[in-house]
Amino acid sequence: MIEYLIGAGTIGAAALASKFLQFEQAQPTLKIHHRPFPLEWREILKEKWPIYRRLPENLRDQLEQLTLVFLERIEIRGVEGLEITDEIRVLTASQACLLLVNQNTFFPAKLKSVVIRPSAYTATQHDSVGGVQSEREILVLGQSWENGLVVLSWDNTRTGAANAKDGRNLVLHEFAHQLDQADGQADGAPILGSPEQYERWQSVCSRVFADLQAKVNEGDKTLIDEYGATNPAEFFSVVTETFFEKPYYLKKKRPELYELFADYYQVDPLTWT
Ligand SMILES: [Zn+2]
Repeated sequence: MIEYLIGAGTIGAAALASKFLQFEQAQPTLKIHHRPFPLEWREILKEKWPIYRRLPENLRDQLEQLTLVFLERIEIRGVEGLEITDEIRVLTASQACLLLVNQNTFFPAKLKSVVIRPSAYTATQHDSVGGVQSEREILVLGQSWENGLVVLSWDNTRTGAANAKDGRNLVLHEFAHQLDQADGQADGAPILGSPEQYERWQSVCSRVFADLQAKVNEGDKTLIDEYGATNPAEFFSVVTETFFEKPYYLKKKRPELYELFADYYQVDPLTWT
């Protein structure tokens, strides 16, 4: 079993305090200057992304302004012949920025570019089990690198937006990794505001993560996708998808985890119906 990385015994109080000290440096405050949002872009979002349609007005306003900041600061580049359209730009940026509403902050400054591939792609994964090295081809929908690069499959970016109730959203997943990686460590704990918050994070997430791993090992059906049992970093990204797309069930089954994520993301998706 993989320990939750900030679980008891792996990172002590001193490390928690130093994580806390990075808070100010890594999460600069964002001041938003209100600017007009193109009507065509609003139409794209209304048509392609049910969550946008459900958002309360003040969150929708914030999301639009954050989308403009995103498109100004972060380059979106197509590869393998994919031509970047307004639909690709807006749907990518807005889904990512859902993670930032109500937070007065932005993604870490090291996040500079997003590469969009037409569809899922294969990559070689190197495994090492008991000193034995092996290689296998895996299907990849997206990736988030610690140096601030995000790679996304456009097919899955689009379908992830279109189905807002299946608990799967590629863009939320990869950009949640960016929040987790903002302090330089992909450990399943984003930057939080106080040592007490880290303690609460550690306590709630360790418990649910261990429980999810046990259920997956038993072959039981789980609300949080079993990919979340891979490691704490995947747990954070997968729970983020569940939180925004299956809030009712998450709150019902894991109320303490729902509250933790509602406090972190500063929103209550349950009220967006
Ligand atoms: Zn992931």
